[in-house]
Amino acid sequence: MKYTEMSREELLTQEQAVKIEYRRYVDKGLALDMSRGKPDTAQIDLSQEMLGVISTPEDCISEAGIDCRNYGLLDGIPEAKRMFSDLLGIPAENIIVMGNSSLNVMYDTLARAMLYGVYGSERPWCKEEKLKFLCPCPGYDRHFAICESLGIEMINVPMTPTGPDMDTVERLAKSDPAIKGIWCVPKYSNPEGVTYSDETVLRLANLECAASDFRIFWDNAYFVHDLYDEGDRLLSIFDELKKFFKNADGVREHMKHHAKILRPKFEIVLGEFERELSGLGIAEWTNPRGGYFISLNVMDGCAKKVFDLASGAGVKLTNVGATFPYGVDPRDRNLRIAPTYPTEENLTLAVRILCLCVKLAALSKLLEK
Ligand code: PLP
Repeated sequence: MKYTEMSREELLTQEQAVKIEYRRYVDKGLALDMSRGKPDTAQIDLSQEMLGVISTPEDCISEAGIDCRNYGLLDGIPEAKRMFSDLLGIPAENIIVMGNSSLNVMYDTLARAMLYGVYGSERPWCKEEKLKFLCPCPGYDRHFAICESLGIEMINVPMTPTGPDMDTVERLAKSDPAIKGIWCVPKYSNPEGVTYSDETVLRLANLECAASDFRIFWDNAYFVHDLYDEGDRLLSIFDELKKFFKNADGVREHMKHHAKILRPKFEIVLGEFERELSGLGIAEWTNPRGGYFISLNVMDGCAKKVFDLASGAGVKLTNVGATFPYGVDPRDRNLRIAPTYPTEENLTLAVRILCLCVKLAALSKLLEK
């Protein structure tokens, strides 16, 4: 029966039972970390071989005879460019291969735009009176942190099951020249696991912008992170990108090993949510087919409470508000679940506790009325 339809007496009975269970976990003094989408040890082990593939000087000579230990090749080793070209369906000459932290690349790209502007800018972005970015949310907290640190005002755009609300994106981009960009995680978005529909990609590709130097930040972080053999399909925004991995097929094969580790973890979280929370009318969640996260919406005004309760029982979640610009979730309801890092056993325990906390927070809200 839905909590929202229970009488006060029924709610009090529920609350008492859930409180007893919650206290049992608090007393265990647990430390379970679900706060960030870090790969677990078994996933890191999948790449162990890579650390040993370079053992002789000959291993460092590229097809074109270039010694890769030396300076040069600023846009990346040609073989690596070709591999990403195959994977992403983008010509190799349009690809720059950099270090292994995309976050550094994104920060640097925006910092450069601030200092120098981008192609089409009249002046460096830092010389503009006002700078704004469209931020589909819930979204990736680090995108928001980059904007915040550079003083770029963020505008919330609601996410839908097919991507950002494009009516809002089009209306805003067209009307305000101070809006210089939009953050997009087009496949298995963080945290909802949404893949943009063909229509969304087409509308973004054809976006009419008041700013001549508007930029779409297409952070396709999860483009090979399918959990199931048949992954979501994302329309290529470029035309309608190999070990280390030899070739694109090698990457796809490698990612299947990650999926084998991750799929059961996603299924544990979703199974527990279904078992413990469905039909209560107090929570809804996404069912992603890839990526690293699950988005959980609890009752309005309850997310912080759930976070605190979970912390109290030793379960570390992503900070509440992290999925919104400035760390402010206007409805205080969104929680990002990162199932990758804990072992299956710890994850089961953590989600069970989380479900209890969701119930407790909902019950205390309903009983307040
Ligand atoms: N982009 C998105 C959408 C992410 O979710 C993450 C990690 O959670 C990153 C980028 C970070 O990637 P990197 O490890 O390459 O800095």
